[in-house]
Amino acid sequence: MGNSVTLMIDGQSVTVAEGTTLRAACDQAEHVVPTLCWHENLTPANACRACVVEVKGSRTLVASCSRVAEDGMDVQTASERVLNARQVVAELLLSVSDAKLAPDLLHLAEMSSADPVRFTGGATWAQPVRQDNNLYVRDLSKCILCYRCVQACGDDAQNTFAIAVAGRGFGAHIDAGFGRDLPESDCVYCGNCVAVCPTGALMGKTEWDLRQQGQWDESRITQTETICSYCGVGCELDLHVMDNQIVKVTSPQDHPVTHGMLCVKGRYGYDFVQSEDHH
Ligand code: SF4
Ligand code: SF4
Repeated sequence: MGNSVTLMIDGQSVTVAEGTTLRAACDQAEHVVPTLCWHENLTPANACRACVVEVKGSRTLVASCSRVAEDGMDVQTASERVLNARQVVAELLLSVSDAKLAPDLLHLAEMSSADPVRFTGGATWAQPVRQDNNLYVRDLSKCILCYRCVQACGDDAQNTFAIAVAGRGFGAHIDAGFGRDLPESDCVYCGNCVAVCPTGALMGKTEWDLRQQGQWDESRITQTETICSYCGVGCELDLHVMDNQIVKVTSPQDHPVTHGMLCVKGRYGYDFVQSEDHH
């Protein structure tokens, strides 16, 4: 048995295993803090500041996704400072990105009563949608710089390191190296970046095209579990099917082999399955 620590969360005593983050401890106490960049299978990037909490004795607000719980800590998840900080995070992100397909950001904005136009007038990093390959589309006007894609492409999963954050301040953006198109980069099209993107800034081409045509309809999509047949690893696939067509492939986040990550064959090999079906 490992050691445990006991802390106060919003006046309630909570005991958690040593090493538990404040975010997880708050979760356990059912005082859930909102998150944007945090993802269960990625190292906390500490990028978005949506999950800040107030810790008694600490001058600054603390990112609960990465700070580990300590014995005797006194944590507030909904103090005035916390609520203000959350609201500003939401307002800043709404001012620089198109949140239409970002449910977590929309939720944060709603719960913090964010004013969506408070910071408009600030410079935004506008750029055209990049469709430079057949598998996924990049619309970085939706990007909130959460770093998830960079981590999934890097040593949290894929180890390809094809993408990184380039530029600074309002000019900071996700880049495949010197503004290159993906086919000229090191990308191997595993789509793991797409799978973890919380805003729709990265999107499978099939979904993108269907949305452009007004045909994407979540209510008509069913999911079927299967095991990928391309090799012997045994990755579990969730086939998202609409009108008898596979429109997206994901893998469950809690699957012990994939942790939600796949390779290009599992993720995008369905075009091959479908072309076979049509003969
Ligand atoms: S598809 Fe895979 S290799 Fe390409 S940028 Fe995304 S995570 Fe990296
Ligand atoms: S492209 Fe998506 S995953 Fe990558 S930093 Fe932007 S919002 Fe996050």
